[in-house]
Amino acid sequence: MASERTAGEQASESLQRPESISEPIPAAEEGGGTEYRYCPLCGTRLVRRELFGRIRPQCPACGFIYFQDPKVAVIALITRGKQVLLIRRGVDPGRGKWALPGGFMDAGEMPQEALRREVQEEVGLAVEIQELLGIYPMAGPGARSRGIVLAYRAVPTQAVGMTLVCDDDADEARWFTPAEVPGELAFESTRTLLARWKAEIDGASP
Ligand SMILES: [Zn+2]
Repeated sequence: MASERTAGEQASESLQRPESISEPIPAAEEGGGTEYRYCPLCGTRLVRRELFGRIRPQCPACGFIYFQDPKVAVIALITRGKQVLLIRRGVDPGRGKWALPGGFMDAGEMPQEALRREVQEEVGLAVEIQELLGIYPMAGPGARSRGIVLAYRAVPTQAVGMTLVCDDDADEARWFTPAEVPGELAFESTRTLLARWKAEIDGASP
């Protein structure tokens, strides 16, 4: 029985006998989702196999295994006095709802660098990144997380009166006092971070 063997043994066996426990990746319209369906190295149709303890897409021709790495995003709690900067999302997930500005890290970047770049691109604001506030699961299809979100505190490096702009990912960018924060928030991480920030402001009030 396969269940009596270790994942490593199953993996090596499936490499030797590819037909034993393989299943072609269905097309997107058949429920294949956003997984790769063809080998990025040789173009052969990938199959699903149990490899290293999980079902993973593998190429039956060249042996390429698609390890789905977690996505890493960075977001900023940018404050100015008793105001926080939120953007209204122009894209899914969370289209039309408010969120903290940010975006995905690129390979080769450090998180602070990625976040400065993303905020500059998204709202046209230069910011100084401060401490890490928390690490959150990234919203994905269903209950599954697509990766992690690193949240940092940040402050504008420009003088007051700066003009906010919006890129394609955001419809609007605005400063909000705690009382003005909209109810339509995009993500659990946004809700958690804003609740903490509100509590901080309330605690600091005379
Ligand atoms: Zn291949």
